[in-house]
Amino acid sequence: MTISITSAFDSGNIKVLSINDTPDGVRAELEIVRDHQSDFYQWFHFRVAGVAGREVELAIVNCGASAYPGGWPGYRARFSEDRDSWLLADTGYADGTLTIRLAPDSNAVWVAYFAPYSMERHHDLVAWAACQPGVAHRELGLTLDGQPLDLLTVGEGEKRVWLYARQHPGETMAEWWMEGVLERLLDEEDAVARLLRAKATFHIVPNMNPDGSRRGHLRTNAAGVNLNREWHEPSMAQSPEVFLVRAAMDETGVDFAMDVHGDEAIAAVFIAGFEGIPSITERQLSLYHRYRDTLAARTPDFQTRLGYPVAGDGRANLSMSTNQLAERFGAVSMTLEMPFKDNDDLPDADFGWSPARSIQLGKDCLAVLAEMIDEI
Ligand SMILES: [Zn+2]
Repeated sequence: MTISITSAFDSGNIKVLSINDTPDGVRAELEIVRDHQSDFYQWFHFRVAGVAGREVELAIVNCGASAYPGGWPGYRARFSEDRDSWLLADTGYADGTLTIRLAPDSNAVWVAYFAPYSMERHHDLVAWAACQPGVAHRELGLTLDGQPLDLLTVGEGEKRVWLYARQHPGETMAEWWMEGVLERLLDEEDAVARLLRAKATFHIVPNMNPDGSRRGHLRTNAAGVNLNREWHEPSMAQSPEVFLVRAAMDETGVDFAMDVHGDEAIAAVFIAGFEGIPSITERQLSLYHRYRDTLAARTPDFQTRLGYPVAGDGRANLSMSTNQLAERFGAVSMTLEMPFKDNDDLPDADFGWSPARSIQLGKDCLAVLAEMIDEI
């Protein structure tokens, strides 16, 4: 049986250095490929074939110089034999090498940094959502690779809510979160959805970075640009994704915004706010704190102990969307971060942080918004 390793598919990323097939087992040395025109790398996704019943050791040898070396200790890779259920693999990290050990039953096994979210699945999600009652779909424009940038709008209320995910394409949990949001919001028998749709109009961008997603990037678009450093000055040449979404936000205005991400190093779910913007108000800040604290009370998967340091007065980086939207619109805006590792407060030995937990968190985030939508 020939053993092969390939990433030549949607969101694939790996370079094969060597494959050694011995009677004791299979050992492959691999490297993660940098984002195109960028130095960032951490996302991997590949298929190993010809290994049914074998012991397989996969050594990714260039992890020490990746974007977030602090993401590797305590991290476990995901693998799947059916591409539906993604389990934690036996994974170790030492001296810049991530070693993944598998013993697959099937001939082919898929391995990834986190449960992938393909562009095909994105199209399925958008097509399904667009067919639900009351939903408007708009293509904002095309990316540098010529992919559509999709916006879904639903609700009749006056509060203007923007939810957008996956500026960083390797953070696939962000689009799983979007599935939860859309599932709940488009369920006409869900009381939270009924209330929110009466009081607010939702503008939802399930994937801000289709090109990086399909190319198997960690952090950038087709031009190697980090979209979450473009919000002060986006351009059609370098960051059309941000240019188009920000222009649509300028049309509607923004009262509440969530930017959804994954964090490599911190083993917890947390949010970051807009402290340090020049025009910050007490009202904005207290609503942000109320959202954060209510979410912590609602779900044990969210906490406030761990997170990013807060910017000092006037020190906010306005190239980041959360700060830009808070400054530009006076919005209550926030960045939601889910882990690649696990939520260490509630670890799951089989799945770790997972698509199912991301989906549930999306639903819980809507419930918290419903509790305070009148005040937003
Ligand atoms: Zn991110």
